[in-house]
Amino acid sequence: MKASTFRILPLPTEIADAARLAVNAGALDHTIVRANSPGSCPCRHCLRWAQPGERVILFPYAAIPSGHPYSETGPIFVHANECHRYSATNEYPADFRNGRVFRAYDSNYNIIDAKIVNGSEPEVVIESLFQNPDTAFVDVRSVTHGCFTFRVQRA
Ligand SMILES: [Zn+2]
Repeated sequence: MKASTFRILPLPTEIADAARLAVNAGALDHTIVRANSPGSCPCRHCLRWAQPGERVILFPYAAIPSGHPYSETGPIFVHANECHRYSATNEYPADFRNGRVFRAYDSNYNIIDAKIVNGSEPEVVIESLFQNPDTAFVDVRSVTHGCFTFRVQRA
């Protein structure tokens, strides 16, 4: 198998742990949600869908930091209980092969391209975005809800 040209970057464990502390401390912008159907609450730390009945924390995350035209803070989920950070970082996560949009950013956090899978494989879409030398990273988001799912960097 040919080595992938990209690395999956799941949410850092420090951010998931901080969200767990914040919700326990009663932070108003952090809330516990119980997943009620499969495929409704994607955990950004283990990169899996929460199973029905599992508890997740919903909180705002600045995927693109403030101070840029494309700055963006939006809602994300992480499991309320500890979970293992996604570690197969040279493989596209199996739970998110569908329903994603791929946005290419340059090193100044400007969006320079965006694609949906549209019948092709996510790996092919990601590699085509990285063919542009200006692409610094690709953010993968929900095509319906727009929420940040994970980041992809060059290998
Ligand atoms: Zn998780």
